Amino acid sequence: MVRGRFAPSPTGALHAGSLVAALASWLDARALQGEWLVRIEDIDGPRCIEGAAANILQQLALCGLHPDGEVLYQSSRNNIYQQALNQLIGRGLAYPCACTRKEIEEHQASLGWSLARHQTAVYPGTCKSGLNGKAARAWRFNVSQWSKLRGSPEVHWIDRRLGTQLQNVQDEVGDFVVKRADGMWAYQLAVVVDDAEQGITHVVRGEDLTDNTARQFLLQEALGFAHPHYMHTPLVLGANGEKLSKQNEAKVLDLSSSKAICFAMQAAASTLGLSALAQPANASVALDEALNIWTQEWSQRYVRAKP
Ligand SMILES: [Zn+2]
Repeated sequence: MVRGRFAPSPTGALHAGSLVAALASWLDARALQGEWLVRIEDIDGPRCIEGAAANILQQLALCGLHPDGEVLYQSSRNNIYQQALNQLIGRGLAYPCACTRKEIEEHQASLGWSLARHQTAVYPGTCKSGLNGKAARAWRFNVSQWSKLRGSPEVHWIDRRLGTQLQNVQDEVGDFVVKRADGMWAYQLAVVVDDAEQGITHVVRGEDLTDNTARQFLLQEALGFAHPHYMHTPLVLGANGEKLSKQNEAKVLDLSSSKAICFAMQAAASTLGLSALAQPANASVALDEALNIWTQEWSQRYVRAKP
């Protein structure tokens, strides 16, 4: 069974950018005649806003995007993530880290690493051989150990839209955090565990998450999970050329009337390169028709074209 998902963080209402990801994942699941699930990624407690999850679900429903099963909340899944971490620890694939961000930056500087070149802060492996009496703050995945066991630090994967991708996680990211110093679960671990447990076969999400995929591939391997197929969709850019996000005050979608909903959905579809549709008098019929036509277009582009 093909199964896709949309996994928003409840840090605010849906905006034009998140609606694109929602629509793309919905169309993909429909085009593949599969199920579409919604997962609320509310593990980062302090950033979540009360009522935002309910609001997002209501916005999706207004847009005709209804999940085919129960909505999953990450905040209720502490034990499951801990089991996955225990499994990694038991196999020597995760270790505690006592470093503060400042210590990591100082260590990088002493090694002559420049952040500009590496972009993401590569962890230098300070605590790999022990904590030297310091208290554990976070837990890290032992990328070099797993790379040895799997035979290569390079992760190759194929994005259904962007094509072949390659990342050397050991060099470009290093041993990444799976449980944070504040006790919260890292995005990478929670996503991998949830995608596997929900039986997600097709992940469709925004392009800004593309470079997380190699890390998720390694965790999937180490935990014995199958890899889903991945597709990363275009982002909606703000006037400053940066990705629209709740942080840079993307405008809340106007879904106050059938006409406004059609307008918002047309904008999302056009970001995905789907055709614009004339708007008949009855907007809710138009939305149903539009979703059907966009599903066919999606199918021609991403399903039938590729085996
Ligand atoms: Zn450390």
